[in-house]
Amino acid sequence: MEQHKDKSIKAILPVHLAGQIVDLQALKAVIAGKNIKIIADSCHAIGGKQGAYSVGDGTIEDMSCFSFHPVKTICMGEGGAITLNDPDLAERLRALRSHGMIKTPNIGAWAYEMNELGYNYRATDFQCALGITQLQKLDRFKTKRQELVSLYNQMITDLAPLILPPKQLDGQEPGWHLYAARFDFDAIGKTRDQVMKALISEGVGTQVHYIPVHNQPYYTGLYGTQTLPGAEAYYQKTLSLPLYPLMEKEDVCTVIEALKRIIL
Ligand SMILES: *Cc1c(COP(=O)(O)O)cnc(C)c1O
Repeated sequence: MEQHKDKSIKAILPVHLAGQIVDLQALKAVIAGKNIKIIADSCHAIGGKQGAYSVGDGTIEDMSCFSFHPVKTICMGEGGAITLNDPDLAERLRALRSHGMIKTPNIGAWAYEMNELGYNYRATDFQCALGITQLQKLDRFKTKRQELVSLYNQMITDLAPLILPPKQLDGQEPGWHLYAARFDFDAIGKTRDQVMKALISEGVGTQVHYIPVHNQPYYTGLYGTQTLPGAEAYYQKTLSLPLYPLMEKEDVCTVIEALKRIIL
Protein backbone atom coordinates (compact mmCIF):
# COMPACT_ATOMS: atom_id res chain seq x y z
CA MET A 1 0.00 0.00 0.00
CA GLU A 2 1.28 3.47 -0.83
CA GLN A 3 2.66 5.43 2.12
CA HIS A 4 1.47 8.98 2.67
CA LYS A 5 4.22 11.28 1.45
CA ASP A 6 3.46 14.59 3.17
CA LYS A 7 4.00 13.82 6.85
CA SER A 8 3.04 17.25 8.19
CA ILE A 9 0.03 17.27 10.48
CA LYS A 10 -3.06 18.76 8.83
CA ALA A 11 -5.63 18.05 11.49
CA ILE A 12 -6.06 16.46 14.90
CA LEU A 13 -9.16 14.37 15.51
CA PRO A 14 -9.71 14.02 19.26
CA VAL A 15 -12.44 11.63 20.39
CA HIS A 16 -14.58 12.43 23.43
CA LEU A 17 -14.46 8.76 24.37
CA ALA A 18 -17.52 7.37 26.22
CA GLY A 19 -18.81 10.93 26.68
CA GLN A 20 -15.99 12.53 28.65
CA ILE A 21 -14.74 15.70 27.05
CA VAL A 22 -11.16 16.01 25.80
CA ASP A 23 -9.49 19.23 26.98
CA LEU A 24 -9.67 20.97 23.60
CA GLN A 25 -8.32 24.22 25.06
CA ALA A 26 -5.09 22.42 26.06
CA LEU A 27 -4.89 20.79 22.64
CA LYS A 28 -5.32 24.15 20.98
CA ALA A 29 -2.48 25.60 23.10
CA VAL A 30 -0.15 22.80 21.92
CA ILE A 31 -0.79 23.60 18.24
CA ALA A 32 -0.88 27.39 18.65
CA GLY A 33 0.60 29.22 15.66
CA LYS A 34 0.48 26.13 13.44
CA ASN A 35 -1.94 25.60 10.60
CA ILE A 36 -3.55 22.54 12.15
CA LYS A 37 -7.31 22.02 12.37
CA ILE A 38 -9.13 20.37 15.24
CA ILE A 39 -11.93 18.11 14.05
CA ALA A 40 -13.56 16.69 17.16
CA ASP A 41 -15.29 13.34 17.09
CA SER A 42 -18.15 14.33 19.39
CA CYS A 43 -20.33 11.29 18.67
CA HIS A 44 -20.18 10.06 22.30
CA ALA A 45 -20.50 13.40 24.03
CA ILE A 46 -23.59 15.13 22.67
CA GLY A 47 -25.10 17.33 25.39
CA GLY A 48 -21.85 17.41 27.41
CA LYS A 49 -20.46 20.56 29.02
CA GLN A 50 -17.09 21.64 30.36
CA GLY A 51 -17.24 25.11 31.96
CA ALA A 52 -18.47 27.54 29.32
CA TYR A 53 -17.90 25.01 26.54
CA SER A 54 -20.80 22.96 25.20
CA VAL A 55 -19.79 19.98 23.07
CA GLY A 56 -19.93 20.90 19.40
CA ASP A 57 -20.42 24.64 19.87
CA GLY A 58 -17.38 25.28 17.66
CA THR A 59 -15.84 27.85 20.01
CA ILE A 60 -12.62 25.82 20.31
CA GLU A 61 -12.69 23.18 17.59
CA ASP A 62 -12.92 23.87 13.85
CA MET A 63 -15.55 21.17 13.38
CA SER A 64 -17.42 18.67 15.52
CA CYS A 65 -18.87 15.46 14.12
CA PHE A 66 -21.92 13.65 15.45
CA SER A 67 -23.45 10.30 14.54
CA PHE A 68 -27.14 9.55 14.85
CA HIS A 69 -26.86 5.80 14.33
CA PRO A 70 -29.42 3.89 16.45
CA VAL A 71 -26.96 3.11 19.28
CA LYS A 72 -26.10 6.78 19.85
CA THR A 73 -27.64 9.11 22.44
CA ILE A 74 -30.00 10.54 19.84
CA CYS A 75 -30.85 8.62 16.71
CA MET A 76 -32.06 9.28 13.18
CA GLY A 77 -31.83 5.68 11.97
CA GLU A 78 -28.51 6.54 10.32
CA GLY A 79 -26.70 9.71 9.43
CA GLY A 80 -25.06 12.47 11.40
CA ALA A 81 -24.14 16.11 11.51
CA ILE A 82 -21.13 18.39 11.49
CA THR A 83 -21.25 21.59 13.52
CA LEU A 84 -18.96 24.56 12.86
CA ASN A 85 -18.82 28.35 12.93
CA ASP A 86 -17.16 29.03 9.59
CA PRO A 87 -19.73 29.96 6.89
CA ASP A 88 -17.34 29.32 3.99
CA LEU A 89 -16.37 25.90 5.24
CA ALA A 90 -20.05 25.13 5.91
CA GLU A 91 -20.81 26.03 2.29
CA ARG A 92 -18.06 23.69 1.10
CA LEU A 93 -19.39 20.86 3.26
CA ARG A 94 -22.91 21.42 1.92
CA ALA A 95 -21.56 21.16 -1.62
CA LEU A 96 -19.57 17.99 -0.86
CA ARG A 97 -22.67 16.47 0.71
CA SER A 98 -24.56 16.91 -2.51
CA HIS A 99 -22.44 15.93 -5.53
CA GLY A 100 -20.18 18.99 -5.26
CA MET A 101 -22.91 21.21 -6.70
CA ILE A 102 -23.38 24.89 -5.88
CA LYS A 103 -26.19 27.12 -7.07
CA THR A 104 -25.21 29.88 -9.53
CA PRO A 105 -28.20 32.28 -9.64
CA ASN A 106 -26.14 34.84 -11.60
CA ILE A 107 -26.40 32.44 -14.55
CA GLY A 108 -30.07 31.66 -14.04
CA ALA A 109 -32.65 30.61 -11.48
CA TRP A 110 -32.20 26.96 -12.56
CA ALA A 111 -28.43 26.96 -12.68
CA TYR A 112 -25.86 25.13 -10.64
CA GLU A 113 -22.21 24.35 -11.09
CA MET A 114 -20.17 21.32 -10.21
CA ASN A 115 -16.65 22.44 -9.32
CA GLU A 116 -15.46 19.32 -7.57
CA LEU A 117 -16.50 15.73 -7.10
CA GLY A 118 -18.93 15.41 -4.22
CA TYR A 119 -21.01 12.61 -2.78
CA ASN A 120 -24.58 11.92 -1.81
CA TYR A 121 -24.32 12.26 1.97
CA ARG A 122 -27.78 13.78 2.38
CA ALA A 123 -30.00 12.74 5.27
CA THR A 124 -33.61 12.18 4.26
CA ASP A 125 -36.47 14.38 5.48
CA PHE A 126 -37.87 11.33 7.31
CA GLN A 127 -34.65 10.91 9.25
CA CYS A 128 -34.47 14.63 10.04
CA ALA A 129 -38.05 14.64 11.34
CA LEU A 130 -37.02 11.91 13.78
CA GLY A 131 -33.79 13.76 14.60
CA ILE A 132 -35.65 16.96 15.49
CA THR A 133 -37.93 15.20 17.97
CA GLN A 134 -34.98 13.28 19.40
CA LEU A 135 -33.10 16.54 19.93
CA GLN A 136 -35.98 17.81 22.05
CA LYS A 137 -35.50 14.77 24.31
CA LEU A 138 -31.73 15.18 24.62
CA ASP A 139 -31.81 16.69 28.13
CA ARG A 140 -34.00 13.86 29.37
CA PHE A 141 -31.80 11.19 27.79
CA LYS A 142 -28.68 12.82 29.19
CA THR A 143 -30.06 13.09 32.73
CA LYS A 144 -31.18 9.48 32.69
CA ARG A 145 -27.78 8.31 31.51
CA GLN A 146 -26.09 10.38 34.25
CA GLU A 147 -28.34 8.80 36.90
CA LEU A 148 -27.55 5.30 35.66
CA VAL A 149 -23.81 6.06 35.63
CA SER A 150 -23.97 7.34 39.24
CA LEU A 151 -25.77 4.19 40.32
CA TYR A 152 -23.23 1.97 38.56
CA ASN A 153 -20.43 3.96 40.24
CA GLN A 154 -21.94 3.27 43.67
CA MET A 155 -22.82 -0.38 43.14
CA ILE A 156 -19.61 -1.37 41.38
CA THR A 157 -17.60 -0.59 44.53
CA ASP A 158 -18.69 -4.06 45.79
CA LEU A 159 -16.56 -5.53 43.00
CA ALA A 160 -13.42 -3.42 43.54
CA PRO A 161 -10.58 -3.86 42.85
CA LEU A 162 -11.51 -6.60 40.34
CA ILE A 163 -13.75 -4.15 38.52
CA LEU A 164 -13.33 -0.39 38.71
CA PRO A 165 -15.56 2.37 37.38
CA PRO A 166 -14.36 4.40 34.39
CA LYS A 167 -11.80 7.04 35.39
CA GLN A 168 -13.63 10.34 35.58
CA LEU A 169 -12.22 13.68 34.60
CA ASP A 170 -12.87 16.59 36.97
CA GLY A 171 -14.86 19.71 36.21
CA GLN A 172 -17.17 18.46 33.52
CA GLU A 173 -20.68 17.29 32.92
CA PRO A 174 -20.26 14.42 30.48
CA GLY A 175 -22.96 13.39 28.06
CA TRP A 176 -22.38 9.73 28.98
CA HIS A 177 -22.59 7.37 26.05
CA LEU A 178 -20.84 4.28 27.44
CA TYR A 179 -20.18 2.82 30.84
CA ALA A 180 -16.76 1.38 30.07
CA ALA A 181 -15.74 -0.35 33.29
CA ARG A 182 -12.15 -1.45 33.92
CA PHE A 183 -11.74 -5.18 34.54
CA ASP A 184 -8.66 -6.88 35.95
CA PHE A 185 -9.18 -10.14 34.07
CA ASP A 186 -5.90 -11.63 35.38
CA ALA A 187 -6.98 -11.16 38.99
CA ILE A 188 -10.50 -12.37 38.15
CA GLY A 189 -8.99 -15.54 36.67
CA LYS A 190 -11.25 -15.51 33.61
CA THR A 191 -10.73 -14.16 30.12
CA ARG A 192 -12.84 -11.32 28.79
CA ASP A 193 -14.46 -13.73 26.37
CA GLN A 194 -15.45 -16.04 29.26
CA VAL A 195 -16.89 -13.14 31.24
CA MET A 196 -18.83 -11.83 28.22
CA LYS A 197 -20.26 -15.29 27.49
CA ALA A 198 -21.20 -15.87 31.13
CA LEU A 199 -22.97 -12.48 31.14
CA ILE A 200 -24.86 -13.38 27.96
CA SER A 201 -26.15 -16.53 29.64
CA GLU A 202 -27.40 -14.26 32.47
CA GLY A 203 -29.17 -12.12 29.86
CA VAL A 204 -26.66 -9.26 29.99
CA GLY A 205 -25.09 -7.97 26.76
CA THR A 206 -21.73 -6.19 26.88
CA GLN A 207 -19.30 -4.86 24.29
CA VAL A 208 -15.66 -3.83 23.94
CA HIS A 209 -15.02 -0.21 22.96
CA TYR A 210 -12.72 -0.46 21.11
CA ILE A 211 -10.11 -2.59 19.40
CA PRO A 212 -7.30 -0.02 19.01
CA VAL A 213 -7.54 1.45 15.54
CA HIS A 214 -3.81 1.20 14.86
CA ASN A 215 -4.10 -2.60 15.08
CA GLN A 216 -6.69 -2.80 12.31
CA PRO A 217 -5.22 -4.33 9.11
CA TYR A 218 -6.01 -1.24 7.04
CA TYR A 219 -3.89 0.97 9.31
CA THR A 220 -1.07 -1.52 9.84
CA GLY A 221 -0.97 -1.71 6.03
CA LEU A 222 -0.81 2.07 5.81
CA TYR A 223 1.53 2.89 8.69
CA GLY A 224 3.18 -0.40 9.68
CA THR A 225 3.05 -1.92 13.15
CA GLN A 226 2.75 0.79 15.79
CA THR A 227 3.25 0.35 19.52
CA LEU A 228 0.86 2.49 21.54
CA PRO A 229 1.11 1.10 25.08
CA GLY A 230 -1.56 3.41 26.55
CA ALA A 231 -4.21 2.38 24.05
CA GLU A 232 -3.26 -1.28 24.40
CA ALA A 233 -3.34 -1.25 28.22
CA TYR A 234 -6.77 0.40 28.09
CA TYR A 235 -8.03 -2.16 25.60
CA GLN A 236 -6.91 -5.11 27.77
CA LYS A 237 -9.15 -4.00 30.65
CA THR A 238 -12.19 -2.41 29.08
CA LEU A 239 -15.68 -3.86 28.93
CA SER A 240 -18.77 -1.70 28.47
CA LEU A 241 -21.80 -2.53 30.61
CA PRO A 242 -25.34 -1.85 29.35
CA LEU A 243 -26.31 1.86 29.35
CA TYR A 244 -29.40 3.20 27.60
CA PRO A 245 -32.17 5.58 28.63
CA LEU A 246 -34.94 2.96 28.82
CA MET A 247 -32.86 1.06 31.36
CA GLU A 248 -34.23 1.11 34.89
CA LYS A 249 -32.36 1.22 38.18
CA GLU A 250 -33.33 -2.42 38.80
CA ASP A 251 -31.56 -3.31 35.55
CA VAL A 252 -28.31 -1.87 36.93
CA CYS A 253 -28.80 -4.09 40.01
CA THR A 254 -29.37 -7.09 37.72
CA VAL A 255 -26.09 -6.40 35.90
CA ILE A 256 -24.12 -6.00 39.13
CA GLU A 257 -25.66 -9.13 40.67
CA ALA A 258 -24.82 -11.13 37.52
CA LEU A 259 -21.22 -9.86 37.70
CA LYS A 260 -20.98 -10.88 41.35
CA ARG A 261 -22.14 -14.42 40.54
CA ILE A 262 -19.59 -14.71 37.74
CA ILE A 263 -16.62 -13.00 39.31
CA LEU A 264 -16.65 -13.33 43.10
C1 LIG B 1 -20.71 5.90 15.95
C2 LIG B 1 -19.41 6.56 15.96
C3 LIG B 1 -18.77 6.89 14.76
C4 LIG B 1 -19.30 6.52 13.40
O1 LIG B 1 -20.52 7.10 13.12
P1 LIG B 1 -21.24 6.77 11.73
O2 LIG B 1 -22.59 7.39 11.85
O3 LIG B 1 -21.29 5.28 11.61
O4 LIG B 1 -20.40 7.37 10.66
C5 LIG B 1 -17.55 7.53 14.84
N1 LIG B 1 -16.99 7.84 16.04
C6 LIG B 1 -17.58 7.53 17.20
C7 LIG B 1 -16.90 7.89 18.49
C8 LIG B 1 -18.80 6.87 17.21
O5 LIG B 1 -19.38 6.54 18.37
